[in-house]
Amino acid sequence: MTTSETRARSTPPEAEHFDVVMVGAGISGIGAAYHLKEQCPEKSFVVLEGLESFGGTWLIHRYPGIRSDSDLYTFGYRFKPWIGPPIATAEEILCYMGEVISENALGPHIRYGHKIFSASWSNAEKRWTLEGTRAETGAAFRFTTNFLWMCQGYYRHSQGYTPRWKGMEDFAGEIIHPQTWPEDLEYRDKNVVVIGSGATAATVVPAIAADCSHVTLLQRSPTYFIPGRNENELADRLRELEIDESWVHEITRKQIIYDQAEITRRSFDEPEVLKEELLGGVRAFLGPDFDIEKHFTPVYRPWRQRIAFVPDGDIFQGIASGQASIVTEEIDRFTQKGIRLASGEVLEADIIVTATGFNLSVLGDIDFTVDDEPIDFSKTVTYRGMMFTGVPNMLWIFGYFRASWTLRVDLLGDFVCRLLNHMEKKNATKVTTVLRPEDEDMPLLPWMDPENFNPGYLMRSMHLLPRRGDKPEWQHTQDYWAETHEIPAIDLDANEFDYE
Ligand SMILES: Cc1cc2nc3c(=O)[nH]c(=O)nc-3n(C[C@H](O)[C@H](O)[C@H](O)COP(=O)(O)OP(=O)(O)OC[C@H]3O[C@@H](n4cnc5c(N)ncnc54)[C@H](O)[C@@H]3O)c2cc1C
Repeated sequence: MTTSETRARSTPPEAEHFDVVMVGAGISGIGAAYHLKEQCPEKSFVVLEGLESFGGTWLIHRYPGIRSDSDLYTFGYRFKPWIGPPIATAEEILCYMGEVISENALGPHIRYGHKIFSASWSNAEKRWTLEGTRAETGAAFRFTTNFLWMCQGYYRHSQGYTPRWKGMEDFAGEIIHPQTWPEDLEYRDKNVVVIGSGATAATVVPAIAADCSHVTLLQRSPTYFIPGRNENELADRLRELEIDESWVHEITRKQIIYDQAEITRRSFDEPEVLKEELLGGVRAFLGPDFDIEKHFTPVYRPWRQRIAFVPDGDIFQGIASGQASIVTEEIDRFTQKGIRLASGEVLEADIIVTATGFNLSVLGDIDFTVDDEPIDFSKTVTYRGMMFTGVPNMLWIFGYFRASWTLRVDLLGDFVCRLLNHMEKKNATKVTTVLRPEDEDMPLLPWMDPENFNPGYLMRSMHLLPRRGDKPEWQHTQDYWAETHEIPAIDLDANEFDYE
């Protein structure tokens, strides 16, 4: 059934109204619900989630070994202590989120199986109307809300990104994207080639290596990794001293955030020294004779793309033991038996896993209108990577890439609640961010600075995303260390906020 057929299937019933609607029950949406309940207890709210349960990223991804690539002290919320090892499995993250939901009685506020396809703002009514369909029945639904808190993530959940290579249709085996990993995929005693160089590839390879006949990691170009033990010495020491878990969480977070700031600073100030340190970590597992230069030395300076933490250096151990191997080369084409490389060498495979990334989704692939005029987000300018010029009463949680995503969930949670309470005090029902006269000739730049951060999924879709200016209000810096001071200090009566 096509989307339009689904959409046309039934007439939406009377709308239910909530002061605030959160779209998505991933780590962002659950965090948003918590903050609103805590800081704006009078506001009614609902979280609308297209899937049948919470978790988003951690629910969707089912590939072997799925785990976080940043630590859970900072990927966890500031308000709920993390008590496990720093790198967590998807199951552990789902369990943590489940506890947040039950401990804070958020369950009754979440509607699962509610996929939204349109959001229309009416200036006459000063509210959004959201329409969508129920996953189970295909029945239409309609909600209205004063404020839309977009927590729908940043990539299309239904399908990952797989480049087109010549001859893919000739390949006799299976081609699998990790985002849609079949539960019954039989890889035991098979030859598997995993294409990719990011955190996902580095997770899948060691997770399946022992069961496969052989696994080859095939990458076009290398990535930086930080191998280390999956433990946090400071947290463990504090626990030995019987410090309360809420303190352990807070102190460990502070330490990690401080250490990450140092790495970020050094990636700009002394990239070569940092690079050598990172490569030294890999060399410690693979020995002096391994060709680190070819397979693990990226052409970019550290931190232009996310650096994945590799617990216990498991992928390097797999390579060192011979269960897995790594090939760094261009693909010429797929053949019936596997992949022919540019050098002419053929990698035989029964299964090819394309850990080649995401398709970016701009605001949940929802059709947005303001007074029936479609919104083209690429024509809007972002207010600090969270609101958009000309789009009233709406904020998108776009988290950090360089630090844990969730740090921004908490920071923007405080901001939205402050904004909503401010509007209440002012008796305002509408807030829009607007360019000021002094912003008129401001150069408009891409959503994120590619010199600063440039993963493939962003570079492929940058033209669809809102623009950014060159003044602090219109920047999207991805800099937690600056924003942690700047966002709480925002003057809500400044001229870039227009209230009615
Ligand atoms: C494999 C993997 C590992 C990662 N590891 C880390 C990590 O270790 N650290 C880190 O900081 N980041 C990591 N990330 C990035 C990660 O996606 C974010 O950190 C975070 O989980 C995103 O949370 P979210 O709630 O914003 O979005 P998502 O997790 O994407 O959840 C969004 C939810 O919104 C729902 N939704 C979307 N559109 C609609 C709609 N139209 N109607 C209704 N519901 C809708 C979706 O169904 C989904 O449940 C990882 C990403 C992946 C893919």
